[in-house]
Amino acid sequence: MLRINHRLLNMASVREQVTRAASSFFEKPLNFVDGVRVDASQPTHSFVVEEPATGKQLCKCPSSGQEDVNKAVQSAREAFKSWSQLSGLDRGRLLQKAALKLRERQEEFARMESVDQGKPLWESRFDIETVIDGLEYFAGLAPSITGDHLPLQGGSFGIVKREPLGVCVGIGPWNYPVQMAGWKSAPALACGNTMVYKPSQFTPITTVMLAELYIEVGIPKGVFNVVQGEGETGRFLTCHPGVDKVSFTGSVPTGKKVMADCALGIKHVTLELGGKSPLLIFADADMENAVKGAMMANFLTQGEVCCNGTRVFVERSIKDEFVEKLVSKTKGMKIGDPTKDGTMMGAVISKEHKEKVLNYVQGAKKQGAKVLCGGDSFKPDDPALSGGYYMTPCILDQVEDHMTVAKEEIFGPVLSLFTFDTEEEAVRRANDSEFGLAAGVFTK
Ligand code: NAD
Repeated sequence: MLRINHRLLNMASVREQVTRAASSFFEKPLNFVDGVRVDASQPTHSFVVEEPATGKQLCKCPSSGQEDVNKAVQSAREAFKSWSQLSGLDRGRLLQKAALKLRERQEEFARMESVDQGKPLWESRFDIETVIDGLEYFAGLAPSITGDHLPLQGGSFGIVKREPLGVCVGIGPWNYPVQMAGWKSAPALACGNTMVYKPSQFTPITTVMLAELYIEVGIPKGVFNVVQGEGETGRFLTCHPGVDKVSFTGSVPTGKKVMADCALGIKHVTLELGGKSPLLIFADADMENAVKGAMMANFLTQGEVCCNGTRVFVERSIKDEFVEKLVSKTKGMKIGDPTKDGTMMGAVISKEHKEKVLNYVQGAKKQGAKVLCGGDSFKPDDPALSGGYYMTPCILDQVEDHMTVAKEEIFGPVLSLFTFDTEEEAVRRANDSEFGLAAGVFTK
């Protein structure tokens, strides 16, 4: 009996611990410029940051203005002078140190990510692991970056030298906050660039933690700066003449704007945008594996994943068996407190986003799709979570290719089922999408 009480006490204290850690984190400002956390000096306005699991306000954050962006870009330009002159080996050593430090602090980062994003702790731990992978990978690559030597006519030769671009901007979405910051900064820094990063206004925390960690391991001030803000702050960055490259991850409509702004300044730009990816399941697939795959491709991070396989095409002869297993497993998913071990699905990012996802389900019903399970608002038993943004994972059957849910990115836990008879048909319908991001096939 005593042991059970002790365990309950520990379980309760994880939420208490993370809430305390989050509130003390917000005691200092969230912009990180020239190696320190600073207040935005000329914010355009402020926005509210909430904890998706409880709906409670975490902080009010100033949205950085032009002057704040100027300072961050200036800091990165200054740091570029010496950072770009280090050898790849030296830069790699520092990134390797960052990877080691992040491993030490993995749990702390993961907890904060779950508070900020709403995804289960086990997923956040995995996200941090992927940042460590990225840092280690690019740390290893940094010393091996070489050029080319091209022999030309008459003993002449050409040299191809790889040089850093300068100041790179990273703009991130809210579904993988620290992973995006890590995956964008590791290659940029390894190659000798410096960076100004703007996380999503919904998830500002862990990027600042990463910036502090970089300083802690000896990466010089100004090499990685963070400005907080909404779209307007993003535009100050993409339009800034002191920026040489923009790496953007987010939705297609915003991606188009970012690309247009970069074109005006003839800046290098990389876009990672949305998707409506297909998942093909053939009759010879390993059934258990295919069911697990379909669930992972739809309900990880509450379905808020760009490369999710949200259009699940199943060969007619195995459809009934597949659907029965899929629905039964999906109904058994544990939804609730992201900071609790055992939770399989946490809270979606915001009230507005939850409504948007639920509206997609209603729209699908009106267009003739059948809800096999989920697609409803959900209230966990714990009263502390009553204001959180929870919904049940949804499976839609009888979805047709022309329906809205088959065409648009929902970015929530909604799986659409389709039936096919031949491989040619499956491939043709799978490719009939204006998105192009990922695809999955289950077959032997
Ligand atoms: P979003 O496009 O609304 O916002 C992304 C970022 O852009 C945010 O930081 C936002 O503040 C900023 N922004 C908004 N307007 C801007 C502007 N005019 N100029 C510059 N920056 C601006 O996307 P989101 O809702 O945060 O994220 C979800 C989307 O991201 C989904 O479509 C998802 O598929 C996509 N995504 C893609 C990948 C990938 O690797 N392809 C990964 C994760 C998410």
